[in-house]
Amino acid sequence: MPLRFKSLCSGSSGNAALLWTKSGALLLDFAPGSQRSCRQILEDAKALCPAIAGVLVTHAHGDHINANSLKVLREAGLPVRCHPEVARQITIKYGSEWGPCLAPFSRGASIGDFKVAHLKVSHAPNYCTTAFVITAKAEGRRRKVCLFTDLSAFTDEHVAGAADADFIFLEANHDLELLKKYGHPGSEFHLSNLQAARFLHKACSAGTAQPQAVVLGHLSEECNRPHLPAMEIAAYFNRKKLPVKFEVHMAARHEPGPVIVIK
Ligand SMILES: [Zn+2]
Repeated sequence: MPLRFKSLCSGSSGNAALLWTKSGALLLDFAPGSQRSCRQILEDAKALCPAIAGVLVTHAHGDHINANSLKVLREAGLPVRCHPEVARQITIKYGSEWGPCLAPFSRGASIGDFKVAHLKVSHAPNYCTTAFVITAKAEGRRRKVCLFTDLSAFTDEHVAGAADADFIFLEANHDLELLKKYGHPGSEFHLSNLQAARFLHKACSAGTAQPQAVVLGHLSEECNRPHLPAMEIAAYFNRKKLPVKFEVHMAARHEPGPVIVIK
């Protein structure tokens, strides 16, 4: 079976996604809301792949991990894997009782079928935030997946991390015109649709091949619309005279997305 990805929920009211092979899975952030929602979404994830090895958490903001989701993860015996500073911030924010649920790693980690490395990104002040570069062996081939959610800017190091990825999850938080019209505190900590398009263009130019698919997530409810990020990407690539060869999907706020097959 090839590697697969599915967004479970995405946005400021909660984030979670699943990446899985035939024999193992990782949750990517986990904060679907109430404990009841967390249990339901965890059950849905287990129906796709029962062998979940743990949860990779990008940062300690409550829409990525929180006391409700930690409780459900502890019940399920699923460890939270993250940067050591993220682990420290989780215990400061939600309580030291969660310490035993956390399994931080500093450089890279092998988790089941997956090799995971984190890259620090700039996001909200005083919040250590990381992106993840994950490789997984499926059908005898190694596939590379990148998760970039919640970042205010990207660097050459981030672009290099995403180059030659087979699949990229990237936030496209807001449209600049809608932001001007409605304003939204905190938008400066997130990538606009235009920045997301630039990031993808740079990553495609830096690698030898474009990704097979891109899922855009963490869309602002007020300052974005589901059709805008893909339009921005198409327009930007067109201006740069590079054809878009990847599928573009949107991660919805409250509904699960399609299963993306990463061949
Ligand atoms: Zn955040």
